[in-house]
Amino acid sequence: MTEVQSEPAHPVVEYKSASPFNRLREARWQLVTAASLGFASNVFFDVPWQAVLGAIALLVGVTAYVPRRLRSRRLEVVKQRELRRMWPGTGMKVTVDALPNPCFVADGRGITRYINQAALKQYGELTPGDPLSFSLRAPSLLEAFDRVCSSGAAERINWTEKVPTEAWFEAHVSPVYMPGPGGGGADAGRLPDFVLVVIRDLSEQRRLERMRTDFVANASHELRTPLASLTGFIETIQGAARDDPAARDRFLQIMLEQAGRMRRLIDDILSLSRIELKAHVKPAALVDLVEIVRHTTDALAPLASDMNVEIETDIDVGEALVRGDRDELIQVTENLIENALKYGSTGEKVSVSVKPVAPDAGPVNWSLVVRDYGEGIPAEHLPRLTERFYRVDVDSSRALKGTGLGLAIVKHILNRHRARLEVESAPGEGAAFKVHFPANDAD
Ligand code: ADP
Repeated sequence: MTEVQSEPAHPVVEYKSASPFNRLREARWQLVTAASLGFASNVFFDVPWQAVLGAIALLVGVTAYVPRRLRSRRLEVVKQRELRRMWPGTGMKVTVDALPNPCFVADGRGITRYINQAALKQYGELTPGDPLSFSLRAPSLLEAFDRVCSSGAAERINWTEKVPTEAWFEAHVSPVYMPGPGGGGADAGRLPDFVLVVIRDLSEQRRLERMRTDFVANASHELRTPLASLTGFIETIQGAARDDPAARDRFLQIMLEQAGRMRRLIDDILSLSRIELKAHVKPAALVDLVEIVRHTTDALAPLASDMNVEIETDIDVGEALVRGDRDELIQVTENLIENALKYGSTGEKVSVSVKPVAPDAGPVNWSLVVRDYGEGIPAEHLPRLTERFYRVDVDSSRALKGTGLGLAIVKHILNRHRARLEVESAPGEGAAFKVHFPANDAD
């Protein structure tokens, strides 16, 4: 926590509420004593009463009208109040520390008086006492700060930063009025005692919004192409090819393929949105990876024989239990093996293994590896493979009935299972898609 190490010397405070009456009241015992001594000297030492009365009158006048610097407890109270106006109290600091967003408390001159934990984490070591502009450089934010200091009205502003990466921020700049006579309260015309700057990083939210818009644009584009082709062929069959049965049959076959492409795309989009809906629900059932792999390889045997590829399984265990959703894990295994068959067919072999990871070190983690021996994937594509609609080669993906969503679905399902996907590949050496499952608590 950044605590204030040294507070500035406080200016001498004049006791502003001292009226002549107050001063006399405060010095009443001294005045009574002096008056008693005066009367005693008149009685016992024959000091003339005019002199005694004159001395007392002088004393009362000096006490009532000569201003003094107060050294009383009340001065300390006034001083403390003034200090509180310059440095936030503990209550304010702990409240600001409890906020999850970076938060700065500054005084009306733009000097930082307190910086909360979240701001320290995000902006590094900052020292209270420095101008706010040392840590917050966005001109629009500093201008808003000045406006709040002079108008006392809260403001909300947004700004973007381009370096090191594009980032969006929002800041709430609000005046703070301390209660009581030391602080002003939000009276008309009163300037704020402090200004609170709370910053929110909107980058993640904006990126998600952009992803969603990109997704809708990509999905519409992917659907529009087969739809345009369908419309074109219908018009041809209705017109030029009306009386040409051979051409009509050929066109109907193409139309069937285009309709299939649209259906696959819609199925994948629906699949993605269903998985997204369940993203935060961790699967509870125990499922057997060995059974899932056997089931999937059987189902894909016809495709493997069409592609002239042999599927080899390397499984030494009877069962491999993980917490999961069987249908979703079948979809993962199916997508990975299908990709290996389609894109790695030149290798003529695909191997699938299920193995325990570090079986001697506590609960067992499982790995599922799908490896092909085809052309492989150039390194620059690896980080983007799981993005929606990302393909290394769009034409070959379309020719092989790909939608560009298979690995995005795999990634989403694995996220839900707290499992990790790792891809290893080098051009000409095939590709290995490795899934690491965490140990389940039944082990
Ligand atoms: P698609 O529906 O196009 O297959 P995926 O999301 O499943 O979409 O895969 C994305 C892209 O990754 C594919 O278009 C392909 O270019 C590449 N890819 C996936 N698996 C392999 C593999 N085993 N070998 C080579 N490239 C692959």
